Amino acid sequence: MAAREAFWNIGHVWVFYALAAIAVALFAAGCWRNIRIWRKGWVAKGSPGPRGVLPAMLKDVLANRKIARGDGIGLGGLAHFLLMWGFVFLFVGTVLLTIDHYVVGFLEGAVYRGYSRALDAFGMWMIVGLLLAGVRRYVIKRRKMVSDGLDFVILFGLLAIAVTGFLVEAFRIASFPASLAEPSPVGVFIAARLSGDTELGHRVLWWVHAALSLAFIAYLPFGKLFHLIAGPVNVAWATAPPEIVTLDERETLAGDFSRRHMIAFDACTRCNRCDTKCPSNISGEGLSPRGINQTLKAHVHEKYGFASLIGGLLKKHTDGPATEQAIAGDDAWMCTTCRACVEECPLTIDNLDIIRQVRTLKIEEGTQVPTMVAKTLESLFTHDNPYQLPAGKRGDWAEGLDVVDLSDGGQADMLYFVGCAASYDTRLQNVARSTVEVLGKLDVSFGIMGANESCCGDLARRLGEDGLVEEAVIRNYETFANCGIGEIVTTCPHSFKMFKDDYPLYREKLGITGGGGLTVRHSTQVLAALAGEGKLTFSRALGKRVTYHDPCYLGRHCGIYEPPRQVIRAIPEIDLVEMKRNRRNSFCCGGGGGRTWMEEFPATEKIAEIRVKEAIDVGAEVVITACPFCLSMLEDAAKTAGYEDRLEVKDIMELTAELI
Ligand code: SF4
Ligand code: SF4
Repeated sequence: MAAREAFWNIGHVWVFYALAAIAVALFAAGCWRNIRIWRKGWVAKGSPGPRGVLPAMLKDVLANRKIARGDGIGLGGLAHFLLMWGFVFLFVGTVLLTIDHYVVGFLEGAVYRGYSRALDAFGMWMIVGLLLAGVRRYVIKRRKMVSDGLDFVILFGLLAIAVTGFLVEAFRIASFPASLAEPSPVGVFIAARLSGDTELGHRVLWWVHAALSLAFIAYLPFGKLFHLIAGPVNVAWATAPPEIVTLDERETLAGDFSRRHMIAFDACTRCNRCDTKCPSNISGEGLSPRGINQTLKAHVHEKYGFASLIGGLLKKHTDGPATEQAIAGDDAWMCTTCRACVEECPLTIDNLDIIRQVRTLKIEEGTQVPTMVAKTLESLFTHDNPYQLPAGKRGDWAEGLDVVDLSDGGQADMLYFVGCAASYDTRLQNVARSTVEVLGKLDVSFGIMGANESCCGDLARRLGEDGLVEEAVIRNYETFANCGIGEIVTTCPHSFKMFKDDYPLYREKLGITGGGGLTVRHSTQVLAALAGEGKLTFSRALGKRVTYHDPCYLGRHCGIYEPPRQVIRAIPEIDLVEMKRNRRNSFCCGGGGGRTWMEEFPATEKIAEIRVKEAIDVGAEVVITACPFCLSMLEDAAKTAGYEDRLEVKDIMELTAELI
């Protein structure tokens, strides 16, 4: 009856058992070390757990969706899919063989024939996957792909394991002519071409295959292959809302990073896909989310790994803070918080949250905060706005307008929350005035808070100044409760994101009771709904080619891509064309994450200028956007890049007010 021999002519099997014991011990020690490091990360009290894990696992782990999506030509995605599933099934096959050999024999007859054919097929899958991965890494390289000697060793080590596996099988079959009828098509094919001392060949290759396989097991927790374990864990945790740490709680949390951050460091395969999408990296400023991850991984492994157990015996061991030893320099301040890296990362590593934490650490530590950031934070603290203008002047933009003030006893269905930029910046005030004009003409029942509006806290949150965020959240909820606000519309995607996603988390964390249950919409959603109901119509045509710039906080952060396009398409005689990078692939304007208030970092090209050139490339005469920061950044860039006469930049509310 057909059945599998586990050892056949292999002598000194005890040597194999001894090596296997060492490999398993190293594997266990490595996993223990890594999980011990994870456990050094703090967990904020009451943090919400993962949500929607199953779909994320199916798409991003089992189907390799993001690997394929971000690969461009798809070769890398196919390679990873084949080698991952080939590896998984070969591993399962090895486990089954072990059970068959040591526990209960079941690989016989038809079961064995099916098992043998399946293993051959998955072995070939893995080999094809590895060859394609080699082609993608060394021949048709993905843009900016980085490889080192270790990548070569891992790739060709795995290939050697798969190939020697087939050769062991082939030499065994060749040693028994009757076995040529075995249900192992690849093994039989190779065996038919072997001659000479096939028994010796089997013995030698068996040991080579065993040694390579055991080395792989032993190495797995010590390098990037550990993403096999950390990756799925990170994908699961990435479905959880962000952790909110209150100032009081921060005092009680030991360590610089959260448990989620620690897992993310280990999950990172340094594939570099994030860098290829990072606007700061592309512009030549030098930020590398991959680099930050890898630096912090090395730091926490030195701080909490084996070296920490024997302390000062190892010269390299560090137990100092990350700000001094791993993340000195301005890199963290270069981040525009655009979320392109998170969108691109095959394992959804939240570089954004890691960088925000680095900023928080730098602010806590105090000496690595750029002067402009310090001034901005001081202005937020003193004036409740980043413009260093008196809080009492916040409502001046509305002078002369016929608009209800909800903070002064006025009544309306909806609050138009203006935000700092459109309240104080004289250019951006036109967005606020246009909004009042448009909503008024459309008979929307709305009011403003005038001088009593407060900063939403977005800037402080992105800069990592948690104390100011807490104050803003408490103050705004109090105002909303006092004024009976139940529905908010914003023209600023940053306020929109704060009220929609972050405020409910802070509310729960801080135990705030009043002002909850808010309905929050961005102005483009309101306009799109009115257009859909036939209430928003345009009396004038535009007669121009336009393009729409997706603001990062409206698009990637909040998933709103179509409402603004619906409104634009409703304008008569408008030719809407898409830029090369649009929707979730949109390219940042460079103004998020507090960058609007920072000095420029040395670069080969300004981020916003790269973006306006993309608009010029598609022949646009007008760039329409839906964010005051994007408007400001792109308008400036159109001037500095020399396109002032060819390219207008407008907020969607401004354009609507002109054409309604
Ligand atoms: S963070 Fe994600 S995209 Fe960036 S290098 Fe690591 S695994 Fe790759
Ligand atoms: S959020 Fe944007 S700017 Fe920041 S690291 Fe990621 S891609 Fe770069």
